[in-house]
Amino acid sequence: VLATQLRGEAEHDALTGLFNRRGIEPKFSQLRSAGFNVIAVIDLDHFKLINDTLGHQTGDQVLAATALALQPDEDTLAIRMGGEEFLLMLRGPNAPARAEARRRAITQRVGALISSLPSPVTASMGLLEFPSGGFSELCFQQAYRWADALLYEAKRTGRNRTVSERMTVFERRSKVRADAEP
Ligand code: GH3
Ligand code: MG
Ligand code: MG
Repeated sequence: VLATQLRGEAEHDALTGLFNRRGIEPKFSQLRSAGFNVIAVIDLDHFKLINDTLGHQTGDQVLAATALALQPDEDTLAIRMGGEEFLLMLRGPNAPARAEARRRAITQRVGALISSLPSPVTASMGLLEFPSGGFSELCFQQAYRWADALLYEAKRTGRNRTVSERMTVFERRSKVRADAEP
């Protein structure tokens, strides 16, 4: 319901039709409350090379095909953050696996739609999973920075892969015996 509502009123990216950052960032805490507990930053690998060898127009076609592969739905929001960088927010069962399937679908979809590519287009992903109900105070900027650091690791260790992290909360017990305090 929230996703449908967002689709109508939020700002979109002209090239891909996906949300842009402004369409999501102000609603981040609302989305977290609505159960979106996975964020994933996806960045195309060596995209500059595609522009340089096949031209900016083909580059744009690759971006449009990438957006199709991301398949937004009620439980999967897709955002174009800028350039060849995308962000997914997911909720529901198997959210990390659904994000990974989309990352892999980029290579298939781009390959199917653009015939002039000399080699497959791949993407790297940094994925962060929050425990449901936990880390609700983390703002978009912090969460994004975290996922982006995981993406950087995926790039650094070879690209065309995902590096993910599952956040765990160790909560302080509410009642601590007075004589146990240091
Ligand atoms: P990496 O694997 O490390 O991500 O390398 P990369 O080449 O993908 O990354 P880099 O940041 O060096 O290059 C991104 C390129 O994306 C540079 C820029 O010209 C291009 N770009 C940004 N926005 C657009 C766009 O809207 N359309 C097209 N065709 N190219 C774009
Ligand atoms: Mg890139
Ligand atoms: Mg980039």
